[in-house]
Amino acid sequence: MKKLCAISLLLAFLLCGCAQNAPVEREIFAMDTLMTLRVWGDDDDVAAAVSEINRLDALLSVTDENSEIYALNRDGTAEFSLDTFELLNKAVAVSRRTDGAFDPTVYPLVEIWGFTKEEQRVPSQGEIDAALSRVGYEQLERELDVTCVSMDGKIDLGGIAKGYAAQKVVELLQSRGIETAFLSLGGNVQTLGSKPDGAPWLVGIADPSAPSQAIACLRFHDSLALVTSGGYQRYFEENGVRYHHILDPKTGYPADSGLASVTVLAHDGALADGLSTALFVMGMEKATALWRESDDFEAVFITKDGAIFATDGAASLLTDCECTVIER
Ligand code: ADP
Ligand code: MG
Repeated sequence: MKKLCAISLLLAFLLCGCAQNAPVEREIFAMDTLMTLRVWGDDDDVAAAVSEINRLDALLSVTDENSEIYALNRDGTAEFSLDTFELLNKAVAVSRRTDGAFDPTVYPLVEIWGFTKEEQRVPSQGEIDAALSRVGYEQLERELDVTCVSMDGKIDLGGIAKGYAAQKVVELLQSRGIETAFLSLGGNVQTLGSKPDGAPWLVGIADPSAPSQAIACLRFHDSLALVTSGGYQRYFEENGVRYHHILDPKTGYPADSGLASVTVLAHDGALADGLSTALFVMGMEKATALWRESDDFEAVFITKDGAIFATDGAASLLTDCECTVIER
């Protein structure tokens, strides 16, 4: 299985630039991560995609002093452009569906743990309690009737912005007549259409205990967003304990739900991204209950002991790996 993924990715790489119908490929650093864009179009199409990502990054970044989110967090009030407003609405919708497991007002917590700074540290319980009192998506929800928002809390769209950007890039490419593209925005994969040669898309799910290797592969032909959230992606260690960057908005601590990673498959990139963070916080039992009452996503769960569970729609795309299928 692992070999299959590695060989396929390698072949895809070798074929770039020499086969007929080859994609134009570009790597960029944006949204604090490495991104790869593969577009079956021309240089102008890729340039347009890159500008779209940079435009959204400039609006949504929590650390860029010129962003709209930074303005809200600094001033307690901001006038949002339509993109930021749309994404905030999508974020709040995910919060509502997941009973606040995904919460875009989590920033006071992210700040005290230092995840957007050079240095991370375990905050005191007093600091956590003070930050928790400022977290709660309901305050943002009440403000979202209009694009001018005032609130006491602080917003961080890091758990959903890359998925939204991938979605917007796909829509932009479609409007330019592009039928095929493969985007990987720091682990957020979004495909557009099918490969011209009829070969399937193969996307590996990282092994949480050895992230440069794939623990499973998903094989499919059409447009899809696949987003993984995991405790192995960003973390620090203090006194031998590992603290990762996905926080439980109810406790103020890194989520500890028994999962090592969650991969969400959906047609909407922002939904896949927001849900992947949320399901990781919720744990498998609550996540599965949410899946049973939904019809717009599928998921693959890797538990801390390395077992793979997949909802039936996701299991049908998994190749050659042993997984337990979660039925409706
Ligand atoms: P990544 O962006 O690293 O691929 P995620 O999509 O899961 O992974 O997003 C994690 C980021 O989201 C964190 O770095 C933080 O900025 C923010 N975040 C952390 N916990 C939550 C949460 N419970 N709800 C919403 N955003 C969160
Ligand atoms: Mg996410």
